[in-house]
Amino acid sequence: MMISSKTVARWLTRYAQLVADNEAHLTELDSPIGDADHGANMKRGMQAALPALESETMGGQLKGVAMAMLSKVGGTSGPLYGTFFLKAATALGDATEVEPQRFASALRSGLDGLIARGKTELDDKTMVDALAPALDALEAETDWSAATRAAAKAAAAGRDHTIGLLARKGRASYLGERSVGHMDPGAASATLLFDALIEEE
Ligand code: ADP
Ligand code: MG
Repeated sequence: MMISSKTVARWLTRYAQLVADNEAHLTELDSPIGDADHGANMKRGMQAALPALESETMGGQLKGVAMAMLSKVGGTSGPLYGTFFLKAATALGDATEVEPQRFASALRSGLDGLIARGKTELDDKTMVDALAPALDALEAETDWSAATRAAAKAAAAGRDHTIGLLARKGRASYLGERSVGHMDPGAASATLLFDALIEEE
């Protein structure tokens, strides 16, 4: 089993679709603890990202997606997802096909970059709370299909865990204690990224 530029195209096409299908939901989550734009932000970014998926190399694809997120999203989440995809792009470079392990490690560089840029720690109630456990699960499994399912499950658990957390980053942090009891919208959009990675056989 190899991960190719075709896998990446299918993955992020599915992600764009999932984001569009969940636009209202993501915006609803961003209403009580944010400014009700996360669904629109992510949809705009991922729609703009689609043409980049035609690029031949995996690095080219992910760099194009990063540029779309950086330039089109607007909110705080744009530069963060942009950094995630840009670092992953750098790690994959001109490759058109890689072992799952190398693909997972490229996503890991993406997450490290996002964390450095957002100055975020686990349990700050952000997208990192879904991304980090998902990547841990992805790296822990050797069978790729099982790994993607485990990653999506871990992302969802991390997302649900944000409900009880006090926000320490982003707009939600302005609410202090009042941020507790609400799911983080970025953790919800990050979970969709791992839902999209699952390929039905
Ligand atoms: P904005 O908050 O500017 O309106 P969005 O609504 O698009 O941007 O995105 C909000 C999401 O961004 C939050 O739900 C959270 O997951 C994520 N976020 C905010 N600040 C940080 C940070 N410093 N590190 C990681 N993620 C963050
Ligand atoms: Mg917002």
